[in-house]
Amino acid sequence: MSKTKYIFVTGGVTSSLGKGIIAASLAKLLQAQDFKVTIQKFDPYINVDPGTLNPYEHGECFVTDDGAETDLDLGHYERFLNVKTSQANNVTTGRIYQSVIEKERRGEFLGKTVQVIPHITNEIKERMQLLGESGDYDIVITEIGGTVGDIESLPYIESVRQLIWDLGRENALVIHLTLIPYLAAAGELKTKPTQHSVKTLMESGISADIIVCRTEHELTTDLREKLALFCNVKKEAIIQSIDVDTIYDVPLKMRDEGLDQVVLTKLQLTPKQPLDLSSWKEFLKKLKNPKNKLKIGLVGKYVELQDSYKSILESLTHAGAINETEIEILSIHSVDLEDGNQIDQLKTLEGLIVAPGFGERGIEGKIEAIAYARANKMPFFGICLGMQMAVIEYARNQKGIKGANSTEMEPHCKAPVIDLMESQKNIKNKGGTMRLGLWDCQLTANSKAAAAYQKERIAERHRHRYEFNDDFAKQIFDANFMATGTNPETGLVEIIEYKEHPWFMGVQFHPEYKSTVSNPHPLFSEFIKACLEEKAKKN
Ligand code: GLN
Repeated sequence: MSKTKYIFVTGGVTSSLGKGIIAASLAKLLQAQDFKVTIQKFDPYINVDPGTLNPYEHGECFVTDDGAETDLDLGHYERFLNVKTSQANNVTTGRIYQSVIEKERRGEFLGKTVQVIPHITNEIKERMQLLGESGDYDIVITEIGGTVGDIESLPYIESVRQLIWDLGRENALVIHLTLIPYLAAAGELKTKPTQHSVKTLMESGISADIIVCRTEHELTTDLREKLALFCNVKKEAIIQSIDVDTIYDVPLKMRDEGLDQVVLTKLQLTPKQPLDLSSWKEFLKKLKNPKNKLKIGLVGKYVELQDSYKSILESLTHAGAINETEIEILSIHSVDLEDGNQIDQLKTLEGLIVAPGFGERGIEGKIEAIAYARANKMPFFGICLGMQMAVIEYARNQKGIKGANSTEMEPHCKAPVIDLMESQKNIKNKGGTMRLGLWDCQLTANSKAAAAYQKERIAERHRHRYEFNDDFAKQIFDANFMATGTNPETGLVEIIEYKEHPWFMGVQFHPEYKSTVSNPHPLFSEFIKACLEEKAKKN
């Protein structure tokens, strides 16, 4: 078997340039030439994983099959490549230090002073090679979070320097992503910040092989030549990454710029098959030429920040494309619904999603919105907390169960219809202790869920502590409102459906983590289909 090749992606000038999308796009191009590729992300913060981070801080937390709480970039990797990631694909400084400190406590360093170099860097290097050593991949792309020059990134940059030396320059390369700002007053694109950031990288002993330049305007030949000259790279290794309408355009743009060719030449690889992006292009064609339009409301409490619900928004993009429908999302802050003023917004919608979430803030607004969708026969899709709120709404409004609530919001409520699982009750640590990852679910025949999946046994990813409280099953469930999916071992409720309705479903799991470009999630797709059917009926 040939040796695994390594590509490192670093960032300069500013954060938020989209390293994850560039990494995923390059991986897509390599995958389309039949290379087996994976992407991993190394994040320089001290949290052991992003599970304990507020979405305002870091956007959505993406959950993998094996229950790892990871950076949202892993979502992009899975959506672009349609391959699964795992805990090994996301490492933070916190995890590195935790592991080194545990080794120190076990006496594994044989009395040595434990230091950043070599102990922390060795741990980083080992983890950087973990997936490569599995023998499953031809190419491993490693994205280094943060921006070069940050104090926090230094051990990672040093590890990359050492690794390139260990692996040999023909087996490893560095792509540096920077910003070329446009000064409107001067009417000019500026290269100086890029020159500085490439120099900062050099001070750490790394010369970038390829520079990807984020820009709002086309780079001229002169500018490319200047950058090549100052930054020690060939002109073809200056890659323009111009702003695009959709992230799904980026692989094609990178192909036009020749990014994959430069990479393959540098790594001394020849394509295993001619590039085949036909299904990707088919998806883009549908995405860009919609025949219908829908307005869908997304109710949540972090709606100000797009990244908080990244996977849901992308799942809707996939489901929209497959249904040839443009989806306009109206983000509704759940708190705003609580005073009743914003309820008018709901009237303009053709479908409603109630998002996952934690804590009390805004939940009454979510319940109001669900009551509206149920009464007005508007297609409704509740995800995780959204399902829990749908149960509370039905219990209170249809079954007259006073004080129905979740013990997360009201620990001593009269009717805890959503409650902590027994196994969760004595857990003290917050990090990594929720019900996480893939769990089986048995679907009821003839349910909308079974119709969507076209099978009766599924497995979906979870991230929650609270559950439907089975003590209330008899009081709440009836011929119209029922559990249509349950965990086969524990009997825990996974899906609820309300029958007297075009499409009303709540799921305790997170279907959004499994939707990809080549495999749009069936529940999102069926939800959109139902919205279209209802819209057609009204017109
Ligand atoms: N807060 C709820 C729970 O912990 C729902 C979590 C979620 O929506 N991901 O059960």
